[in-house]
Amino acid sequence: MPQLFAQVILPLSLHDAYTYRIPPSMEQDVAPGKRVIVQFGQRKFYAALVSSVSTEKPEDIEVKEIQQVLDEHPVVLPKNFEMWHWIAKYYCCTLGDVFRAALPTGLKLESKSKIFLTGSEEEFLLTDVEQGLMLEIEKGTNVLAELERKLKDRFSYPALKALMQKELVYVEEKVHEKYRPKTEAFVKLHPDITSEEVLNKKAGEIKRAKKQEALLWHFCSAINAFEKGALSEIARKDLFEGTNFTTSILKGLVDKEVLIQYQKQVSRIEGEKTGQVSMNLLNKYQAKALEEIRESYESKQVTLIHGITASGKTEIYIHLIDEAIKTGKQALYLVPEIALTTQIVQRLKNVFGHKVGIYHSRLNSSERVEIWEKTLLFQGKPGEGYQVILGARSAVFLPFCNLGLIVVDEEHENSFKQFDPAPRYNARDMAVVLGFQHHAKVLLGSATPSYESYHNALTGKYGLVNLTRRHSEMELPEILVADVKRAYKRKEMHSILSPQLYNLVEDALEKKEQVILFQNRRGYSPFVECFTCGHIPKCTRCDVSLTYHKYKKRLSCHYCGYSYLLPDRCDECGSPELKTRGFGTEKIEDEIKQLFRNARIDRMDLDSTKTKNAFEKIVRNLEDGKTDILIGTQMVTKGLDFEHVSVVGILNADNLINFPDFRAHERAYQLISQVAGRAGRKHRRGTVVIQTSQPDHPLIQLIQEQDYQKVLKQQFEERQLFKYPPFFRLVKIVVKHKNIDTVDRAAQELANGLRKNKELVILGPEFPLISRIQLWHHKEIWIKIDRRLHLDQVKEGIMAAVKKVRSMPSLSNCIFNIDADPM
Ligand code: ADP
Ligand code: ZN
Ligand code: ZN
Repeated sequence: MPQLFAQVILPLSLHDAYTYRIPPSMEQDVAPGKRVIVQFGQRKFYAALVSSVSTEKPEDIEVKEIQQVLDEHPVVLPKNFEMWHWIAKYYCCTLGDVFRAALPTGLKLESKSKIFLTGSEEEFLLTDVEQGLMLEIEKGTNVLAELERKLKDRFSYPALKALMQKELVYVEEKVHEKYRPKTEAFVKLHPDITSEEVLNKKAGEIKRAKKQEALLWHFCSAINAFEKGALSEIARKDLFEGTNFTTSILKGLVDKEVLIQYQKQVSRIEGEKTGQVSMNLLNKYQAKALEEIRESYESKQVTLIHGITASGKTEIYIHLIDEAIKTGKQALYLVPEIALTTQIVQRLKNVFGHKVGIYHSRLNSSERVEIWEKTLLFQGKPGEGYQVILGARSAVFLPFCNLGLIVVDEEHENSFKQFDPAPRYNARDMAVVLGFQHHAKVLLGSATPSYESYHNALTGKYGLVNLTRRHSEMELPEILVADVKRAYKRKEMHSILSPQLYNLVEDALEKKEQVILFQNRRGYSPFVECFTCGHIPKCTRCDVSLTYHKYKKRLSCHYCGYSYLLPDRCDECGSPELKTRGFGTEKIEDEIKQLFRNARIDRMDLDSTKTKNAFEKIVRNLEDGKTDILIGTQMVTKGLDFEHVSVVGILNADNLINFPDFRAHERAYQLISQVAGRAGRKHRRGTVVIQTSQPDHPLIQLIQEQDYQKVLKQQFEERQLFKYPPFFRLVKIVVKHKNIDTVDRAAQELANGLRKNKELVILGPEFPLISRIQLWHHKEIWIKIDRRLHLDQVKEGIMAAVKKVRSMPSLSNCIFNIDADPM
């Protein structure tokens, strides 16, 4: 038998796979997709993933052995590996980066080796280091990491190995399985009790133990023993619910062999109602759209549905998912993280019941492992696995074996993009690649499609289907523009509300309708200013002013989280007159409470939704009519469906449209349309007020017209002219270092290197808007790539240029973040 070697991927930012020898005892167990424990570097152990097995021995290097095999079955499929390679290449990162992003934490194990003494040193001559190690182990330090920490420089792996060879210590490899299946106690009748007669006889025997007897009859009625359709078992907690029975009473019955008690594996994921509700009938516009989507799929892999807000896109998705799973395939339904509320979860569970798995970052790691395994399980045991996955962006990494359909709702959303760390992937684009890989149909949906997707539809790469009517036949809301500059001058403002918006809110409250007020700044005020000297407190580690949070009485940095108590006096001149400036959601809440004293007001932003379920609660209160006015940031825009919201106010559109970014107008348009789309969804046409000091701004006019085609036409011309997506591809490189001169030099070297390729358009290096974060200086280079160029080659060139700069003297510790298709 020739020696076998395994190529493994380590959970580190390394470009290559590493080779390890497979000891003969593990030959049967090592296989691609399984995790193994390997040693890497001097003395670190990792759970790595086997990517392939071969007889090829790498030349000229020492090959270490695999220590242990962790899995019985592969946790990653060959198809997943293919995808990982694609991601690494497309997003210019390492396979290790992908590995870390893909697997849930519960499957990325930690190695905690324990070391024990077996002999005494007397008969050996030990080196100082070896002796030091022995002493420390004798003292009771026996976890490898602890030894390293305590001994610092006096720790050495060769010394430990020498001690092992002398059989003075042995190492026990204890890899902590973080994930354990959850079990629960169940109760059932003892197998000897086969008929009612036997049962009655047993009951007679325990007559004197009153409580035990009572529990037995309670058990029987709970499971309807000996009746048709009876349950054979019941969870102990369900049995005890609402009663005073205790485990010791139960134990009495178990000892007397009346009942048996045992542990059974259960799901950790809250079992919501999974009653089978039939799907809604589609209205005629939806039915037509569905028909068009089917037609489109005859020639296209990907179709874009451009459907206005509240047109019922979700209903169409559900119908398509139903069709897909009837053919025995899996379906993936991606939504932005924040849109994963009970609203959508319940809609899906109603129809597909236990076939649905939900995957997002608020699940704990064990829950994520469970979804992972049940997605995998669908291959072997379809009945027990998940066939439909509703998930946020990371769900694209799940081990699907046979996808038939992928839906990406709100496909324009930038939360599908991972910003940090690498891989900086866009789940929408990965969904398209995944679709090709599985020969699955892909549906992208949005009321305001991204320019990229729309362009693909216009050029015929994707199919395009329009849905232009709201389900309720309600018209889109009326959009009014309020000139706040003029209103301020004329002293017509009610605090932050223009007269138009103020009157509408008052009116809505009177009619018992609800209001949403949108502001894209959280906290109390975006900055404070000294009234005497004009000083503005800034973060000491970042180049930004600190936001004032009134409830916590703190100034805090939204970039690094640094915060401190609001000082009494100005740091610069000592004046006590510090004024808050600008409006964040907290301050708006205060002001609105003053204006509408009887209204019930709630706030939805990052600060108010930190605790578990807080977000859900805010949503539910609005749904149940317990909130009259909701103030919120971006969060209120994401696909929420409320019946009774009739007025929406955009409090300050200026800071949306003036943002210095080539996507600012695209974003502002999308954001405002989405918030506006929350108004008047069911009962009465809604009204939206946009407050701005630039009422004549062309974008504001376009928004008011609600004509997306017109926006696209105008914007596409600009994008083409200035060589931006969708006409050019973009790669952004951020160079970081704590020393500003080093950043300068590295960025300049890199730009010079990149400019050697004359076909690329290189911008920069330049300082970004916020040029220092957490003491790290940033400089950016933007690369515009003509679509006719060979993308793989260009990216290889970029990677090579970065590698070259990294190898230059004193630049090796610069950080280079490469972002393909930045958002
Ligand atoms: P979109 O995702 O396009 O914004 P939704 O799918 O959330 O719209 O639909 C808006 C509202 O209309 C929801 O409350 C939904 O339940 C309802 N609705 C849409 N289509 C139907 C239908 N065919 N039958 C019943 N209710 C529908
Ligand atoms: Zn001052
Ligand atoms: Zn900071």
